[in-house]
Amino acid sequence: MEDYEEEFVRNLKAAQAVYCSVRDEFYAWKGRHIAELSSRIFPSEAATGSDVAAGARFRIPTAAFDPPPNASGQTEAEPCIYTWEYDADGRITAPGERIPLVVLEPDQFIAHPPYQFCTPASRNLTARMIDNAQAPFVPYPEESAFPHKRYLASFDGFQWENDQRDPDDEVIQYETVRRLHVERGFPAETIDDIMRDHSSFRRLRLSNESGLLWDVSQRDPLKVIWGDGRLASSKPHLPPHFAQEFPTSNDIFIQINSGLTKFCPNLNCIMHCCQIHITHDWSLYTPALTPKEPHLTSAEFFEQPGATCGDNCFRLIDPDDMEDQDMSIDNLDFLQSALKLDPDMLPCDLAVICKLPCRHVFFHRRDLVDDREVFPPAPVIETKKKRKGKRPQRLSLYRKADTKKRRPFSRQDFHLPPCSHPGPCSQVLMGCQCFKANSLCERNCRCPPTCPRRWTGCNSTCARSPTCGRKCRCRMAGRECDPELCTACDARDTHVHFPDIIRRSTRCENMEIQRSEFKCFHIKRSTWGLGAFAAEPISTGDVIGEYVGELLDGADQILGHRDTIQKYSGLNYCFGITDRTTVDAQWLGNPTRFLNDSKPHRPNCGADGVHTANGEPRLIIRALKPIKEGNELTLDYGKVYWAAHV
Ligand SMILES: [Zn+2]
Ligand SMILES: [Zn+2]
Ligand SMILES: [Zn+2]
Ligand SMILES: [Zn+2]
Ligand SMILES: [Zn+2]
Ligand SMILES: [Zn+2]
Ligand SMILES: [Zn+2]
Repeated sequence: MEDYEEEFVRNLKAAQAVYCSVRDEFYAWKGRHIAELSSRIFPSEAATGSDVAAGARFRIPTAAFDPPPNASGQTEAEPCIYTWEYDADGRITAPGERIPLVVLEPDQFIAHPPYQFCTPASRNLTARMIDNAQAPFVPYPEESAFPHKRYLASFDGFQWENDQRDPDDEVIQYETVRRLHVERGFPAETIDDIMRDHSSFRRLRLSNESGLLWDVSQRDPLKVIWGDGRLASSKPHLPPHFAQEFPTSNDIFIQINSGLTKFCPNLNCIMHCCQIHITHDWSLYTPALTPKEPHLTSAEFFEQPGATCGDNCFRLIDPDDMEDQDMSIDNLDFLQSALKLDPDMLPCDLAVICKLPCRHVFFHRRDLVDDREVFPPAPVIETKKKRKGKRPQRLSLYRKADTKKRRPFSRQDFHLPPCSHPGPCSQVLMGCQCFKANSLCERNCRCPPTCPRRWTGCNSTCARSPTCGRKCRCRMAGRECDPELCTACDARDTHVHFPDIIRRSTRCENMEIQRSEFKCFHIKRSTWGLGAFAAEPISTGDVIGEYVGELLDGADQILGHRDTIQKYSGLNYCFGITDRTTVDAQWLGNPTRFLNDSKPHRPNCGADGVHTANGEPRLIIRALKPIKEGNELTLDYGKVYWAAHV
């Protein structure tokens, strides 16, 4: 023990010495480097290296309106500016070009009506759950009428108070690690161990995508010339994958999990970290896989249906006579992690994944999964006793409380995390959130595709009338058709893309959002600031567009700081789309946010309910009557303004 402590102290002292010399070398280089840069740009104003290190500031050269120093001393009769050119040594190349100015009288302009900054977006974006945690900026800083105190009181702190990592320190830390390992032979564990007590020192790797080495790998290296006059890039590097532990290349379970938790399975996404379903709080929205329990003993594999996979199939050998099958540690690790994904997979299938003969797979599975630890098949617990002769209860399409309003049963609460639990999604005991909220399971739920809570599409209603009209099961449930599930109506539009192969005269009409079949309109000045005007003739029922913005969860996100700004500006872009979900197009949106309130009350457009499309609630705006080209598009804000009805 004493040896360890002595060694630790010795290593610590060595590391501290390396760190200090790296730090001194870095700041000496930085001072010289900045002085050199500044002397090139402002030769007469050049600060010395020591001034820079002491924090001296550069002065901006005299105003551009002054003639260059080598011009004649005459004052100009008319206003003009000069361009100054420098050579590589920072000397002004004379003469600079003189550009006369044209003075325009300001009253020739009509000020543009005030408008708000808004990021253009074609799709919704989920607002951070911790929307109220930190104020990113102070709005209306020069307007004393804005209630700054009330606005800031809705936050717990300021975003600029966060500890930002010093980029200089990152370079110093990295060089320290490089020298400790390459020049002194310190292993990664020792370096991490020594630095653990230093709060300012980052761990080498915290995860696959964090830690000092990851951060450094994400930037272009700074070309620091160190004390020995050499660039770090010209010296020996840290080995690739230095300090990398996870995922090990053999652990398929960890590899799949690390990808899966950040991958959006919704069909219009199929991407990494999508900003709608995964986004900032991804750990909430994409549960990790849990290792599955084995339910089959080794002997039971011989009773499984199916044929042998070949002459060497494990089924053709007596398990008791099976010889020891050698397997490398790497292959064994891989098999072990694959068994966590599906311990009951037939060895013949598992063999394909592991690239091994199935005899070997069977033999080692028998070793790895103890028959005494195999779980009996999960009992099927019935929540309600089925009465004889009565059809089993089907999942209701409508929420009980809303039956009168015929509000579709769908995933009303978009912010509800997907479920991930053992057993079926039919009991509260199992911890199924979807069951508890009487909601459908969506694509990122971890239940099997056969889960009865999953949407099955409209093939049952639309096989005969494949245009998905009023009777379409999807439409009735307030969902757009699903390109994968709804095959009777060909929601995927294969016949449109491959007309020579698939001939079809009908087309699914319940796909307007996903196909973005929107009408064209212009944004122009109207009686009320800016407004939207039809750019083509529009008929009744045509989709004008999707109302896009930030998806907010519940009242918490709507009240608070957003509310303060809305009240002050008099502008409210919130559309309440379900009990809990609101779309706010204040800072993010598309041109549909310019549709004005109809005054007098004769709106020609209206919001057309909520459509679940691609696993998210979406709001479409439709024409209520025929609209001529050039006419303004208007809505009825009375029904639209969410805040006014709270
Ligand atoms: Zn997505
Ligand atoms: Zn569930
Ligand atoms: Zn679910
Ligand atoms: Zn489910
Ligand atoms: Zn249909
Ligand atoms: Zn459908
Ligand atoms: Zn359809």
